[in-house]
Amino acid sequence: MAATAPPDRSPGAARTTMSGKAIVVSQFDRAANLINLEDYMRRILMSPFREVQVEVPVRMDDGRIEVFTGYRIQHNGARGPCKGGIRYHPEADHDEILGLATIMTWKTALMDIPFGGAKGGVTVDPKRLSNLELERLTRRFTQRISIVLGPYRDVPAPDVNTNAQVMAWILDEYSSRHGYTPAAVTGKPVSLGGSLGREEATGRGVMYVMTEYGRDFGIPLQGSRVVIQGFGNVGGHLARLLATEAGAKVIAVADVNGGIVNENGLDIPGLLAHAAARKPLSEWSGGTPITNDALWTVPCDWLVPAALGGVINRETNARSLDCKVVVEAANEPTTPSADLILAERGIAVIPDFLANAGGVTVSYYEWSQNLQQYRWTHEQVNRELKATITKAYAAVRDLAQQKGVTFRTAAYAIALQRVAEAERLRGN
Ligand code: NAD
Repeated sequence: MAATAPPDRSPGAARTTMSGKAIVVSQFDRAANLINLEDYMRRILMSPFREVQVEVPVRMDDGRIEVFTGYRIQHNGARGPCKGGIRYHPEADHDEILGLATIMTWKTALMDIPFGGAKGGVTVDPKRLSNLELERLTRRFTQRISIVLGPYRDVPAPDVNTNAQVMAWILDEYSSRHGYTPAAVTGKPVSLGGSLGREEATGRGVMYVMTEYGRDFGIPLQGSRVVIQGFGNVGGHLARLLATEAGAKVIAVADVNGGIVNENGLDIPGLLAHAAARKPLSEWSGGTPITNDALWTVPCDWLVPAALGGVINRETNARSLDCKVVVEAANEPTTPSADLILAERGIAVIPDFLANAGGVTVSYYEWSQNLQQYRWTHEQVNRELKATITKAYAAVRDLAQQKGVTFRTAAYAIALQRVAEAERLRGN
């Protein structure tokens, strides 16, 4: 079995060359110049509204207390309550969480949903924890940050290494202090007030955006070749939907332990069942094992990073990708220097806060359903998601064509304009 991490990373690690914050700053400037954003407004939009850093002492199963560090950063709340996921990762740190919180502000603005941006995280390798330790960590972290949370203040959701169960613990802990408050967190299990369609929403949104782009730029999804890095919530659902609904050929996928390739298209439902049984992807009989490095050079139409940040960078792979379009299903997978190289090479990039906005969009529907105490059908959720994300896509495409800029710069420009307008109307 071949299973290696990218050369300059340890397995499961995230960024390579720049911090999340640095990535965001450099991309922000280009769009701010395009819309002639005032200097004072640049300062408001780049600095966080509120940052909370907490100690998270956790009683381990062997009786020891281990102390972790947790963050909740609220970047901007001009357009509504702050919104953003919570990640558990050994490399989650202040800069990364700030960068991701900032992206959430642009993402909610671009989708035109009534939220601001936030992100949280705990610096921890959750694979080292038992389930009970994970629950204690989540409850203690929630206690420490609950003062800044709430349905009209800041609403967490899942992100890397957190899931519906973790959201259920957050809901329970928050509700024990404030009374039953399902709208305090999204991405919950459906039986606890979660929305139908939330779990697959990010992958589904990515597919809708790819469908639109493919139609506009002559790469129809049907029969096209897709490579995906990451086979978790986003990558797994996306692979399934592309293969079963869009008729695309998913020819290679990888997770933290390595990957698998089949030029004729992988049997994704079979591979998902194999992965659910905790078996390595590389041991799947329906393909050939491939290293994580080699994944980047598999010729394809669509290359979809759906794992961690900074994975497409100048140092390792930006010059060797062999695809027509990079679809950023992960947050910040492409460093700014790699972005320039891809532009030079004529490889289009669909930016993260457009491509992966399906999750927060359905989180908005979940929050609304909780506040209304009413439940939507799965079909209604999907229909609304499609309408919202394709409208945002069309706005980005039109501005990119009108101004002769990349999709990323156009997406930033639309988002910055909306947040700046809200700030001005509120008196700033
Ligand atoms: P997840 O924890 O469910 O899955 C992550 C996947 O990435 C796993 O398959 C893991 O094995 C793989 N991975 C980790 N390190 C890797 C490496 N070095 N090489 C190859 N694969 C690696 O996380 P997720 O929720 O699917 O999130 C993935 C990305 O999508 C993140 O960037 C996240 O911020 C972003 N995102 C998630 C959502 C959501 O709704 N879950 C929404 C928007 C954006």
